[in-house]
Amino acid sequence: MQPISVIPPAQWLGLKENEPLIIAGPCSAETEAQVLATAHMLAKDKRVKAFRAGVWKPRTRPNSFEGVGLESLSWLQKVKQETGLPVATEIANAQHAEACLKAGIDILWIGARSTVNPFLVQEIADALQGTDVPVLIKNPINPDIELWIGAVERLQNAGLHKLVAVHRGFSSPIKGRYRNPPEWHIAIEMMRRIPGLPMICDPSHICGNTHLLLHVAQTAFDMKMDGLIIETHPNPKEAWSDAKQQVTPAELWDIFDSLVLRNSTINTEEFLNHLTALRRQIDLIDDRIIETFAERMDLVRQVGEYKRDHNVSILQIARWAEILEQRQRQGKRIGLPEHLVEDLFNLIHNSSISLQESIFRAAEVGK
Ligand code: PEP
Ligand code: MN
Repeated sequence: MQPISVIPPAQWLGLKENEPLIIAGPCSAETEAQVLATAHMLAKDKRVKAFRAGVWKPRTRPNSFEGVGLESLSWLQKVKQETGLPVATEIANAQHAEACLKAGIDILWIGARSTVNPFLVQEIADALQGTDVPVLIKNPINPDIELWIGAVERLQNAGLHKLVAVHRGFSSPIKGRYRNPPEWHIAIEMMRRIPGLPMICDPSHICGNTHLLLHVAQTAFDMKMDGLIIETHPNPKEAWSDAKQQVTPAELWDIFDSLVLRNSTINTEEFLNHLTALRRQIDLIDDRIIETFAERMDLVRQVGEYKRDHNVSILQIARWAEILEQRQRQGKRIGLPEHLVEDLFNLIHNSSISLQESIFRAAEVGK
């Protein structure tokens, strides 16, 4: 994909250089009083650049609170009038989009459960065509980067330029420490595939709790993401949705105070020269790694041909178990990160199996 022509949030929100885009507010707009009280507390800190609240809530199971709907759009209008904060909410279909445009909602977002559905994304793109409303595009709930890219393309094709990707983690069958494991590599791949597309992180939906928020938000800044969207509620325990992951404004200030912003680079000769020298060494090692892989694959090919000629199976489970065990032991001894050796050798072994398979298949075709 070509670098896209986006208008960065710095321009439409008037951010200073290196200032992150921070959006905060409750998961859901519950009552007018709750919305206004939260917004007034958040507006006190100039680090908050926009206010969020879900008006229509995509709940996994029916009979949960599904948002107040249309009526609460007027509460967001009041937030804007009374605090001056731009307001943001989630839209999941054309009717939502039209209602938000009519109500003058400043920023819209497409939720993770909508990004998965090209019909919905197209319907939203069509409804927004001809406007220049900013749209945040959350990653799809499943780890499919093409759906995420496709959603960005649909909005871009509708002439929208104020686009921001939101990394909110991915659904997983494994109940680990995160509600939606971040799978940082997918967000990084998204940045690589669409250079120039701003990306912010949603640590609230990644964590599903409050104790990991700081850690995830810091990693987002370490990855040079452009900001955060964090759920904030005056009384999280009583929240009508996502009670476990919301923080109070005071807790949010603590998180902000602990976060360290990173520079994308430093333009001093000393810094650049040192980095270049280290990178040059890495390039040389990578060169050697690739050459060494090629040599290894050549031997794998010879082994494959030998097995084929003697009608011996490709997979030799005892040999594979021995390789993995021995390499892992060696990696551990010299202090390589756990899993690195395992992942690496799984990859190598899978490629070796594929290569030998193709050698066996080619012989069959030749018969
Ligand atoms: C939300 O931001 O409240 C929300 C529903 O998020 P997601 O689409 O990421 O689950
Ligand atoms: Mn939520």
